[in-house]
Amino acid sequence: MKFDHILIRFGEISTKGRNRKIFVDRLKNNIRDVLTDYPSLVFQGTRDRIYIHLNGEDHDVIVERLKAIFGIQSFSLATKCESEITKIKEQALQAIKSLSQPNDTFKVTAKRADKQFPLNTNELNYQIGSHVLINTEDLTVDVKNPTINLRVEVRSEATYLTCYDYKGAGGLPVGSGGKAMLLLSGGIDSPVAGYLSLKRGVALEVIHFFSPPYTSERAKQKVIDLTKELTAFGGKIKLHIIPFTAIQEKIQAQVPENYTMTSTRRMMLKIADELREKQQILALITGESLGQVASQTLESMVAINDVTSTPIIRPLITMDKEEIIDIAKKIGTHEISIRPYEDCCTIFTPASPKTKPKLEKVSRFESYVDFDELVTDAVNNVETIIVTKEKRDEFNSLF
Ligand code: ATP
Ligand code: MG
Repeated sequence: MKFDHILIRFGEISTKGRNRKIFVDRLKNNIRDVLTDYPSLVFQGTRDRIYIHLNGEDHDVIVERLKAIFGIQSFSLATKCESEITKIKEQALQAIKSLSQPNDTFKVTAKRADKQFPLNTNELNYQIGSHVLINTEDLTVDVKNPTINLRVEVRSEATYLTCYDYKGAGGLPVGSGGKAMLLLSGGIDSPVAGYLSLKRGVALEVIHFFSPPYTSERAKQKVIDLTKELTAFGGKIKLHIIPFTAIQEKIQAQVPENYTMTSTRRMMLKIADELREKQQILALITGESLGQVASQTLESMVAINDVTSTPIIRPLITMDKEEIIDIAKKIGTHEISIRPYEDCCTIFTPASPKTKPKLEKVSRFESYVDFDELVTDAVNNVETIIVTKEKRDEFNSLF
């Protein structure tokens, strides 16, 4: 059967008091954004629900896309019929038939909002339940833990039926928590850090450091593709590509080898911070995880973080690599991240980077060069690409 609308329930939004309307509007817009290719859908937001009126559209793809939207706790396909018992029984049967799998269990939870309706809740449950049982083959009743909870709400204008609660992605609507700048390499970690920040309502701009000819166009494409995957969760994203070759060459020439990594990270952070300020963004995000590599020890953090006092969100800081990989696989970034194209850091990685760099030393090594000018140059020569979900297929066809 064709369902006629989808009922969407919120998670934490409900607790947000005065900001509620802003949250609901944001969520409604985010939902609309991922469904722009369905022009006949109609969206309606109320205090505690959002409804999507399907107007004849098929629900399969829409259901899949809704599962990725942060701020949704659960949602259900819904249908309605005239408030008349034979119509309700038939509609209930059709709804269950179209969603149930062999050996599913069900129960009916009726609610009588229209007190004039001749049957009470128990009678409704019984009549609808037995109609379904008689007319299906492998369904059984389970009142405690059914796979399908057929909810029937009888109102005077119509009766509304839902069968199944799909689990939403949880979190907060993207954009309700402002915006942060994600430092996105081609690796496994940073896209996951971006995803987890989106989950808590923070919208993203993305910055990537690119060092041609040491790094290839394919490395850049990889970052575009990773950004595209992230748009599934938060709509379009601005991707800033920073030319980083001049700075890396300068670091190689001026800084002792075991400190080049520390210096490189410091310059990245400086540039990201300058661009962040220009874009009026509040914080930075990285994919760092404590102790994972030489640049991610506490000592390295002290030496690197010294270049800015801007808050840096590090969602992966206490995660193991395995946990990060699990999320990367789930969100579809892992297979892109493992493409073999080198990023700028891999190529310049020294044989033995300092795991306990000293802040005074790295500052002194850098003081012989006017890095500030190079940093500003890099920011001024940024290439900005707007990455949208619609472009995903277009780009994929390049490979
Ligand atoms: P990732 O898997 O995200 O590359 P990593 O474990 O390889 O992380 P590093 O290479 O030390 O760790 O990088 C630490 C963080 O610095 C990255 O998570 C990312 O946020 C940022 N970063 C590293 N290289 C780049 C780059 N080329 N462009 C933008 N950000 C970068
Ligand atoms: Mg990396």
